[in-house]
Amino acid sequence: MHGLVIHAGEEGARLGLADLAEPTPDDADLLVDGIAVGVCGTDRSLLARGLRGGAPGDRLVLGHESLGRVRRAPSGSRFAPGDLVAGLVRRPDPHPCPNCAVGELDICLNGDFTERGIKGRDGYAAERYVLADRYAVAVSPRLGLAGVLVEPASIVAKAWERVDASSRRSGRALVLGAGPIGLLAALLGAQRGYEVHVVDQVGGGPKVRQVKALGAVYHEGAHDLGTALGGTGRGGFDAVVECTGELVAAAIAATGPGGVLCLVAGGHRGTDPTMELSVLSGRLTGGNRTITGVSSSGRGHFEAAHAALLHADPEWLHGLLTTTVPLERYAEAFHAEPDTIKSVILLAADPGPAGKGKS
Ligand SMILES: [Zn+2]
Ligand SMILES: [Zn+2]
Repeated sequence: MHGLVIHAGEEGARLGLADLAEPTPDDADLLVDGIAVGVCGTDRSLLARGLRGGAPGDRLVLGHESLGRVRRAPSGSRFAPGDLVAGLVRRPDPHPCPNCAVGELDICLNGDFTERGIKGRDGYAAERYVLADRYAVAVSPRLGLAGVLVEPASIVAKAWERVDASSRRSGRALVLGAGPIGLLAALLGAQRGYEVHVVDQVGGGPKVRQVKALGAVYHEGAHDLGTALGGTGRGGFDAVVECTGELVAAAIAATGPGGVLCLVAGGHRGTDPTMELSVLSGRLTGGNRTITGVSSSGRGHFEAAHAALLHADPEWLHGLLTTTVPLERYAEAFHAEPDTIKSVILLAADPGPAGKGKS
C-alpha cells in the first residue's frame, strides 16, 4: 500500500513514495480507498520549508484536499461502502479549548490542534486510510473528481460567510488572484449575485477563460489594478477577497465604504506600500469598512462548499483541474506553471465513476 510522504531530513524536506502499513480502522472509523488528493501552496510550502509543527514520526503522509470512497463502514454509520467522502483536515487539541470543545476546530484558541497532511497527523495521500466517521463529509457522485475541490472551496465558503455576515448588499466584488482559491471565490461571489472582477498576472490561458466563463471581468496584472479599482465609479468594491497574500494594501484601498475585505492568503509577501495606521483607522471608521481573515475550515464550511460546487457548471469545475497525474508521477503535481490551476494526484489506478467526466 503506497502513499506520498515528506521525509524530514538534515538537508531539508524530501518528497517520495513510501510503503505504508495497511490501516486498521476501529469501531467508529471508516476505511477509505483514496481516489485523489489536490496539491496546493500549503503542500508546496511544507516541502520548501520543512515539516511545520512536526510529523508523527520522521515523515508525514501528505494530502489534506481529499476525495475517497468508503470501503468499509462501521455499523450505524451514515456511510455505506461505495459512498464518496472528503475528510475534514483539523482535529482538536488533546485538551480541547472552548472552541474545539463545541466543534469549532477551525478557530482553535491555543494552536495545539493537529491537521491531517499538514501538522502532526498523517494525511490522505495514500491508497487506503482510516477516517473517523464524524470527520467525514459526504460527496455527491455527481461531482466526480471535482469532489477533490470540496476542501479548498470550504476555505472560500468560510470567507464568504464572513463577508455575508458584514455586508449589506451584493454589488461588486473584487477577487485578487486567479488560482484555485481565487477562482472558487469568484464562483461563490457570482452565485451570490455579485458583479465579479478578478485580477491576476497572466495575459491569457485557462485562468482567464475560467474567469470569463463565470461572466466575471478579468483584469491583467498589477498595472491594471488601478483600472480595476478606479473603474468602479462608486468608490470601491462591496466585497474584496484577497487570495494572493501580496496585494493587501491594494485590497484595502479597493474596499468601498461599507464594504468587506476578507484575507484568505496568509502573510504578506508583497512589495506594495505600507499603510499608516491613521489612514487604516480612517478607512475603517469613516468608511464603515470591515477587514477580516480566515484559515482552516469546519464541517459547516465543507457542507456549504459542497452545495456551491453542486450548483456550479460541472465542465467549469473540471476546467480547474489542469493537471491530473497518477501517484507515481506525483512530482509533476508539484511543478506549478503560470497556467496551472489545480494539480490533482490520482491514488487509485482506476478512479471508477468519480474519475469520469471531463478531466
Ligand atoms: Zn490546500
Ligand atoms: Zn482548540
